[in-house]
Amino acid sequence: MAFEGLTERLQNAIGKLKRKGKVSEADVREVMREIRLALLEADVNFKVVKDFVKNVREKAIGAKVLESLTPAQQIVKIVNDELTKVMGQEAVPLSKAAKIPTIIMMVGLQGAGKTTTLAKLALKLKTEKKARPLMIAGDIYRPAAIDQLQSLGQQIEVPVFSLGTDTSPVEIVRQGLASAAEKKNDYVLIDTAGRLQIDEKLMAELAQIKALAQPDEILLTVDAMTGQNAVEVAKGFNEQLDVTGVVLTKLDGDTRGGAALSIRAVTGKPIKFIGQGEKMTDLDVFHPDRMASRILG
Ligand code: GDP
Repeated sequence: MAFEGLTERLQNAIGKLKRKGKVSEADVREVMREIRLALLEADVNFKVVKDFVKNVREKAIGAKVLESLTPAQQIVKIVNDELTKVMGQEAVPLSKAAKIPTIIMMVGLQGAGKTTTLAKLALKLKTEKKARPLMIAGDIYRPAAIDQLQSLGQQIEVPVFSLGTDTSPVEIVRQGLASAAEKKNDYVLIDTAGRLQIDEKLMAELAQIKALAQPDEILLTVDAMTGQNAVEVAKGFNEQLDVTGVVLTKLDGDTRGGAALSIRAVTGKPIKFIGQGEKMTDLDVFHPDRMASRILG
């Protein structure tokens, strides 16, 4: 399961408190030192860790927690609430346009899981909202991206608009949107090109697509397994494109938790979905409170 190391270390730290009947200020400081190390080892952003520890310590020492009959339980609750807050407090729903179609543009580095996530989201909209989505194949650079999207489209029975690899992505999107208008698709999901790292040419192209499509959502897919690198990528994309949300993929892998716990605080943008496997149904709405409970184990 994801976050195994972090969960174990937090449980150890808190377990020590639970075994004490009475908890002193020094005990709280000691447990906060351990929590701080656990978070840093989980690759959580340094500043996020600092604020987190400060807030928990203040709440634990400041209120009447230490004099209460159950100080350890109350400290667990404070940690849980703070974890929830760091990840954004509440689930943020996908935007919906007042007039169809709702346009969702998917961006991200190559390999992050952009194309897979696009199809997963189309399936989710189809099954949960009875939507009639159209997917636009706008990644003309990665050789197999269009085939991959078409094959996923067949699998989930969602149409794909493609003009192959010889037309510019902006033109593909323009014609794709016209096709969606004609066929009255209520959601349009645009797949875009990724690179191995952020580069100016890619960003310029994405900005052009954004200007043309005026999407209701720009979702950035980042790979949770890459930890702080995912956070840096999110920061970079957000500065250039002002994304509306993040999809954290590969949370089923061996992740330490750093990306999940840092992205919201560093970018100010919510994590909207999490990918937890390669199957088309492995996409879930991100709930900060549930993730906090999962981290605390
Ligand atoms: P793109 O280059 O960003 O479009 O990436 P792809 O959509 O092609 O995904 C790259 C690889 O990651 C594929 O093998 C996907 O099956 C895999 N992948 C995507 N999301 C997840 C996820 O949530 N969990 C796991 N385990 N694999 C994923």
